[in-house]
Amino acid sequence: MAQPKYHYGEMTWPEIKDAAAARKVAVVPFATIEDHGKHLPVDTDVRLCVAACDAAVAAASDRAVLVPSVTHGYSPHHMDFPGPITIGAETFIRYGVDVCRSLAYHGFKRILIVNGHGSNTPFVDIIARLTVVETGALAAAVNYWAAPGVKEVAESLRESDKVGGMNHACEFETSIYLALRPDLVDMTKAVREIGHRPTANYWTDLIAGDGPLAMMEHWSALSDTGVMGDPTKATAEKGQRLLAAAAAGLVQLIDEMRDRVSAARHDHH
Ligand SMILES: [Zn+2]
Repeated sequence: MAQPKYHYGEMTWPEIKDAAAARKVAVVPFATIEDHGKHLPVDTDVRLCVAACDAAVAAASDRAVLVPSVTHGYSPHHMDFPGPITIGAETFIRYGVDVCRSLAYHGFKRILIVNGHGSNTPFVDIIARLTVVETGALAAAVNYWAAPGVKEVAESLRESDKVGGMNHACEFETSIYLALRPDLVDMTKAVREIGHRPTANYWTDLIAGDGPLAMMEHWSALSDTGVMGDPTKATAEKGQRLLAAAAAGLVQLIDEMRDRVSAARHDHH
């Protein structure tokens, strides 16, 4: 049997109607355009997140659709570097809710936001929550590097610093970009830079996790090149394994969302 069409943007309206009626999960990548060191393009977060989502939905095309990505996100702390396109916090939240509200209106009852940019995290959480309370749909948000199974694979591959080596334009992101488009990566310009100055309760790493003190300073105060981590340890082979782990983890989340039975509300006034 031919694989069902799964790119939402390539579907006709009757096909979208059928996809919603078939209880498919709408997977929506969210990311941003921002500086990623001197060796990676500014589209890194978008390209990596969409690639993980595409591989996941391709593997689950009978039960999910891939919605075109929300390309622009929240990056005001990166504006000292040329390139970032940042959307204000309130605008970003309302825009994201409107995307999800539209999907809910067309009948998608399960919406999975997959985020590819760390600083979008609190906002996509709010977008998912608002979608739940403002529509009849059930929405959830996840960072693709936090999908089940990714941490174990990433830690098994890690050659960079245990905390801080995988952060931004780092071993993790550079590896995946090398797996996708090596022609766009200039490894001669990749440098190790870990300038976030960890203290007792503050540290940050995509995979090892963050300390309890949640804080984001201006990026130019933390990094000269825009790198946070060690991209010199990146390889395409690592990237292929990370991408495969992210896709497999996202398939689990698609199925968990699809299988979840919503209980009825009761207004006790
Ligand atoms: Zn990034």
